[in-house]
Amino acid sequence: MDAKYEMHLNYLKEHDKLIFDAIEAEKKRQMDGIELIPSENLVSQGVLEAMGSIPTNKYSEGYPGKRYYGGNEHIDIIESEAIARLKKLFGAEHANVQPNSGSPANMAAYYALMNYGDTFMGLKLTEGGHLTHGHPVNFSGKYYNCVQYGLDKETEMLDYDAILKQAKEVKPKLILSGYTAYPREIDFKRFREICDEVGAFCMADIAHIAGLCAAGVHENPAPYFDVVTTTTHKTLRGPRSAVIMCKEEFAEKIDKAVFPGLQGGPHEHTIAAKAVAFEEAAQPEFKEYAKQIVKNAKTLAEELMSQGLRLVSNGTDNHLMLVDVFKSKEITGKDAEHALELAAIYCNKNTIPFDTRSPWNPSGIRIGTPVLTTRGMKESEMKEVASFIVKALDAHSDEAKLAAIKKDVKAFCDQFPFYK
Ligand SMILES: *Cc1c(COP(=O)(O)O)cnc(C)c1O
Repeated sequence: MDAKYEMHLNYLKEHDKLIFDAIEAEKKRQMDGIELIPSENLVSQGVLEAMGSIPTNKYSEGYPGKRYYGGNEHIDIIESEAIARLKKLFGAEHANVQPNSGSPANMAAYYALMNYGDTFMGLKLTEGGHLTHGHPVNFSGKYYNCVQYGLDKETEMLDYDAILKQAKEVKPKLILSGYTAYPREIDFKRFREICDEVGAFCMADIAHIAGLCAAGVHENPAPYFDVVTTTTHKTLRGPRSAVIMCKEEFAEKIDKAVFPGLQGGPHEHTIAAKAVAFEEAAQPEFKEYAKQIVKNAKTLAEELMSQGLRLVSNGTDNHLMLVDVFKSKEITGKDAEHALELAAIYCNKNTIPFDTRSPWNPSGIRIGTPVLTTRGMKESEMKEVASFIVKALDAHSDEAKLAAIKKDVKAFCDQFPFYK
């Protein structure tokens, strides 16, 4: 099989050997290993080319048609098209494509809708929320009064009745749904009802599942939520960046919060790459891709469980799963991550809900299927991936065995080339 795409670094190869070599080595690492980090993906040739292009030279503070710098007629075409494509993809009333990444996008959304000190509700980090969802070390927990909700202890899933009950007591200005490490489908309609019942702004951060929402594989909250933020580089498979979508009534506030509220000049080369990714995500092939991500994740989950591993909530509905390696194998998340890395299998250590261990060395690992699915792997390959994982976990203290698995992993990955 031939590689799908090519990186063009001919100039760097001649003129900056150190950086060239490191980029090439990173490409080789990405190609030679089993990438299971669920927040990562592999971008297309079009996205790569736009990212490496000359709109990076341009200052364009402001918005299309209303810039604080001259010479923006072509930049305006790029940004207007990115906005139009995003609105169409998610059925959103308004879109801002300037946030530089997920955390600043959330910061802008809070800045638009709340005052410092206001109360909002988000899911605890240790149960699947993001740092920006109100964790005390983050601006979101420092500048706002975040009252966090948790998962149900039995099911390890959201308990909407409990969230409603808590919201009635807390009277938050905003309730945030959408997560970083939650393997189950989210009932966004229910969140809308809860927000309406307590009079809170209804916001979702769909950073992880945006690709599934865009493809219609999971519920897409953008048409009826007040504000939706998302990164563009996870399941959506675009450049490393983010966007905000909202109802028309919040458009001005959101735009002002992004610029001039928090950011300066937008990264228009990245906005060009986002436009390319939104067009790709609107294609029928992307729907198939998103469906396959979920099929692959379900197969991987079944296979791991049948080999004796405990998964949080006993499975997955989306692209990711949490493996309770401590309970299943008496290995900590940190040691599991390290052992797998020695076998060129990449994941991240992660707390599991109600973890009794510390976040630095938790009970679980988080794995997912977006990258492997982009490489063209299907259900039968997921069975092989599961056995690689179990073999590596069982050999966690045997470096020679892990090195041998790494060789087999490379041979396996060579069947699915991606970048030349
Ligand atoms: C990844 C993620 C973010 C942060 O995105 P960055 O681009 O890393 O700043 C925010 N929210 C959620 C739910 C995420 O998963």
